[in-house]
Amino acid sequence: MIYRNPGSCFRNLVAGTETKVPLANGKYVTAINFDNAATTPPLCSVLREIAQFAPMYASVHRGKGYKSIVCSDLYEHGREVVREFVNADKRDVVIFTKNTTESINMLAYALAADEKEQVVLSTDMEHLANDMPWRDKFTVDYIALTRSGRLSLKSLESKLQAYEGKVKLVAVTGASNVTGYINPIHEIARLVHTYGARIFVDGAQWVPHTSVNMRPYDSAEHIDYLAFSGHKMYAPFGTGVLIGPKETFANTIPVYQGGGAVGLVSQQAIEWEAPPAKCEAGTPNMMGVLALITAIDTLSKLNLDDIHSYEQKLIDYAIGGLSTIPGITLYSIRDGTEERVSLVSFSLEGLHHSQVAEILSRKAGIAVRNGLFCAHPYVEKLLRLSDEEIKYYQTHDDKSLPGLVRISFGLYNTIREIDIFLELLTHIARHHQFYAHKYGYVLEPNRSNGDKKEEYPYC
Ligand code: PMP
Repeated sequence: MIYRNPGSCFRNLVAGTETKVPLANGKYVTAINFDNAATTPPLCSVLREIAQFAPMYASVHRGKGYKSIVCSDLYEHGREVVREFVNADKRDVVIFTKNTTESINMLAYALAADEKEQVVLSTDMEHLANDMPWRDKFTVDYIALTRSGRLSLKSLESKLQAYEGKVKLVAVTGASNVTGYINPIHEIARLVHTYGARIFVDGAQWVPHTSVNMRPYDSAEHIDYLAFSGHKMYAPFGTGVLIGPKETFANTIPVYQGGGAVGLVSQQAIEWEAPPAKCEAGTPNMMGVLALITAIDTLSKLNLDDIHSYEQKLIDYAIGGLSTIPGITLYSIRDGTEERVSLVSFSLEGLHHSQVAEILSRKAGIAVRNGLFCAHPYVEKLLRLSDEEIKYYQTHDDKSLPGLVRISFGLYNTIREIDIFLELLTHIARHHQFYAHKYGYVLEPNRSNGDKKEEYPYC
């Protein structure tokens, strides 16, 4: 497949795309970042907005000073921007958190306050953030996978039936951070609601890449709870989001307690604020919210559908190229019809995942992710590890943990970058024995800049 314009029209909008990094041989090259599923670089618009707003920065909800009022108004306005972005219902609250992990922990805590012995269905493809917080508070069961590693809707339905109305929540990812598969969330929501349960969607890998619509309460396909992170959508500065019906948070004691969450407190009694304030004890992260809503504004203007289709071209091209390299095993299938986000995981015969990641970085400045991507059970299942094998790794302090290599694209990545990656990977595959010997142990990366200090340009 030949592209006439192998660049990205979005590239100039993102900071750090021309940053130079050192290679093992001491030369400097422009960094290639294929680790956007972990975190994305900031949009230039976000950096500009933060810098421009900084002189007006003051504490939120804690003062009558002019700046404080401006900041408080902007912070509250942020909730409306987020609500509109995902079409949340008016009866939902938008709670600002630190990230998706914190959002899910808060939700688990809030729902667990309901005394009944109830079931949460998580799935075999979740990030640990959407698995571990449920375990100590509910009976947790896992929806199984199909042979290709997708979610089995049959398994979901049979579990909903088997638990006979005891399922309180189905907690499922919008898109997998391992295979890139997008789940048919609205179809799942319909099924879940038929059985009287609610659905929580982990939007960490979904919301940044495609347009998401929670749909109104009266739709059977409505998403009840949604969480996502600003830092995965070009807005660092530490803001996450949790959205859900106000009533969920109204009658529970919040996990974090302190100033800002309360009306009047005596040593005998606490008067709680209404949600969302009740769920945001402590000084709010106003700059984080500003970063998030600026990113939302920029991504919406660019149009998430256009971003999605550009990123589809990237991932299709990468998967096409990867499939021709001898020794590569891909851990998600591409049948042309399935929905996915722009990431894929693979292994290369003869080399450990950490060696592949190390070589890509040291030889060409390409950053990928390797390991289990905080989705341990999913990767264990994709690798078909037995219980004994998992136990072995858990009980031996062995550095060679199992895992995969993942490439994940953002809107600023280009076909040209993928070509550089594919060319090097083909070379590594051909000479894997040489590299296995050379990188026989995991080397400490050479991060020293020596005396070659460069101005790292951004924007
Ligand atoms: N869910 C998924 C699917 C993820 O990929 C991640 C981040 N890797 C998280 C949850 C957790 O996000 P955060 O680290 O921002 O809390």
